[in-house]
Amino acid sequence: MLYDIEKIGTKRIRVDRIAICVFLIIIVFLTIFAGIRCAIAVQNENYAKQLELTAKNLEEERLKQEAKEQEEKAKKEGPLLQEQIQAVENIYTSDTKRVFLTFDDGPSKAVTPFILDLLKQENIKATFFVLGDRVVANPELVKRAYEEGHFIANHGKTHVYKQIYSSSQAVLEEYNYTQQVIRDAIGNQNYYCRVFRFPGGSKGGYYSNIKNEALALLHQNGIASLDWNSLSRDAEGAKTKEELVQNVITTIGTKNSVVILMHDANNKILTYESLPDIIQYLRQNGYTFCTLQDVIDSSAET
Ligand SMILES: [Zn+2]
Repeated sequence: MLYDIEKIGTKRIRVDRIAICVFLIIIVFLTIFAGIRCAIAVQNENYAKQLELTAKNLEEERLKQEAKEQEEKAKKEGPLLQEQIQAVENIYTSDTKRVFLTFDDGPSKAVTPFILDLLKQENIKATFFVLGDRVVANPELVKRAYEEGHFIANHGKTHVYKQIYSSSQAVLEEYNYTQQVIRDAIGNQNYYCRVFRFPGGSKGGYYSNIKNEALALLHQNGIASLDWNSLSRDAEGAKTKEELVQNVITTIGTKNSVVILMHDANNKILTYESLPDIIQYLRQNGYTFCTLQDVIDSSAET
């Protein structure tokens, strides 16, 4: 009997020990489990924070990049900066041999398409100083010239001196009108012409004072003015294509940077006919064909 009691006592002690051990093991497991959960939670929180930070950094980086791109785009396509205006207006002072073919007073159905065909065939880009009234009459030709990579510049709306030179403000109004009809023609409402050619040239003559005032106004609006330093005299009664070619050669002389004035108005088919010989002369004498866009772009890069 006593033996049985002792046996039962020993058994209970053993059961208690086992229970304590199990209890301790459970506690240890629970502690470990809680620790792991806590660690995972902390890790998740850190990860979420890191993700948030990365997203924030990426967003900041994107905004920075976007601002930079917009600034670059404005330099390339928006109103000109002062140094770009200077680059255009100092176009004649270059050591490299380069030539800018410029066509004024168009576009016209009788001449412009032939000039565009020839330029395409010769792989040459030119500059067209278009008139607002002519753009309205021939929008498809402006669109074609633009799409074929030519520079579309601004020659005002009317070409009537007493109208455009009635005030400096009138010059800017004709410029703005022409810019708008060019935008409509090419289907790009963000297009800036950026370069204006005064009808009859920017200097001297009866309207000299108005022209000077207008030039300052144009500059304030990010617009450069460009005349020429060579011409075919196709608007001054040259009668044969040989005469036009000779006038160009004579007025180029020994110049390195040449801006040639020609016209693509309705009655200027002789200009088109003289063009192959003019191009041949320029090629033989080592001139590279450029547009005003090249001058503006190279100025924006520096
Ligand atoms: Zn003109």
